Amino acid sequence: MRPTAELIDLPTENFRSRIERLSETPRVTADGLPFMHKFTIAIATFVLSASAAAQVSPSAADPERMEQRIRALSEFGRNGDGGVDRVAYSDADVAGREFVSGLMREVGLTVRTDTAGNIIGRRAGTNPRLPPIMFGSHIDSVPGGGNYDGDVGVIGAIEVAQLIVERGIRLAHPIEVVVFADEEGALAGSRAMIGKLTNSALDVQSHSGLSVREGIRRIGGDPEQLELAVRRPDDIAAFIELHIEQGAVLDEADVDIGVVEGIVGIRWWDVTIEGFANHAGTTPMNQRRDALVTAAELTLAVSRIAREMPGRQVATVGRIQAFPGAPNVIPGNVVMSLEIRDLDAAKMQQVFDRITAEAARLSDARSTPIAFREIELLLQPAPTDVRMRRIISRAAAALGLSFMAMPSGAGHDAQDMATIAPTGMIFVPSVGGISHSPQEFTSATDMANGANVLLDTVLAIDGGALQ
Ligand SMILES: [Zn+2]
Repeated sequence: MRPTAELIDLPTENFRSRIERLSETPRVTADGLPFMHKFTIAIATFVLSASAAAQVSPSAADPERMEQRIRALSEFGRNGDGGVDRVAYSDADVAGREFVSGLMREVGLTVRTDTAGNIIGRRAGTNPRLPPIMFGSHIDSVPGGGNYDGDVGVIGAIEVAQLIVERGIRLAHPIEVVVFADEEGALAGSRAMIGKLTNSALDVQSHSGLSVREGIRRIGGDPEQLELAVRRPDDIAAFIELHIEQGAVLDEADVDIGVVEGIVGIRWWDVTIEGFANHAGTTPMNQRRDALVTAAELTLAVSRIAREMPGRQVATVGRIQAFPGAPNVIPGNVVMSLEIRDLDAAKMQQVFDRITAEAARLSDARSTPIAFREIELLLQPAPTDVRMRRIISRAAAALGLSFMAMPSGAGHDAQDMATIAPTGMIFVPSVGGISHSPQEFTSATDMANGANVLLDTVLAIDGGALQ
């Protein structure tokens, strides 16, 4: 467990009192709240004990209500395994979108669908000149998906909006709860929102069988007028996404909240190794130019290099093909993949440089030239806003929740939003680290913890924490 104390600035301004001013009902200390079951950051304890009002906390997401809504949402596209097939633009997606739109209206938001098919529920702020604070996630799933990926962020965002409305918290900024369209396909909704959904992406066939273009039309968008969905820098005060971790780091470390440092970048290469195809019976071992043997050594080197360098970078050889691919022929040619992921583009390059240095050595030693060709589909690392990390860390600490900084190895709409707005991401634990599976599970307590951190983050931003 690694509490990231370095993320917490000692609170020079009083975070609590700022929240109290915003709320008609002052909050209590976290003492006695069920969230106190894990460890507490000393600083938070200090801050909280400094004023011990004993009234209702605005941070009081209702775990049962959240779980009940997650369950209700899971009925749309439910499959025999207990998971969902709610791929974007399908009947189940359309029905699920109607369900969450209804919830958003119920809690007092004004709901519209933008031309990209994103659902946006808005509540006005007291200052009409301020841009909205936006938060949300997605409800579409992969085929055979689980009931928490995306859903927790949407139900959590609705919970936060409901708490704000119910408690009469007056925010200066408008709030916008967003349900992004087609996250699992191509981040189509958030891509469109940042003005980067290309014509060729619109032609791609989605899991529903419809093209993205047809799909957008089906869910009430207008692919011919995507420019109307575009938000520019300064159009959004901040974006926050609550999401399940989809890995086992938080669960194994028994930590409540992940403060996401960013979404890792991804680079892919095709690696070609040239040997000489020859008779497997008549060619002595010391006269072979076996491309597959070199590929095997290179694969081991990729794993070793990624492990030996300090940091959390990952490198993978996930596909390998040997030609001609016969038991009695020495492989004359191998094509394999190489993938590197990290939060830091320079670090990714360093890993690649060490791999190519090792490849040069191997190709000399075995007389098997190795060539790397980078695939164009390159995902830049998308670091979250440092101030947002600090605000989220502080909110978690003030709630008595344990937290740690961590990268996201999976892609999210937040990576697009990070290019136009100060963006933060809050992770809650996935039991066993299982995701994209019917076995995906996050407890109601963890979901409520995430919603509470989201609420306090929104309140802090409204109170000027980004300035
Ligand atoms: Zn997701």
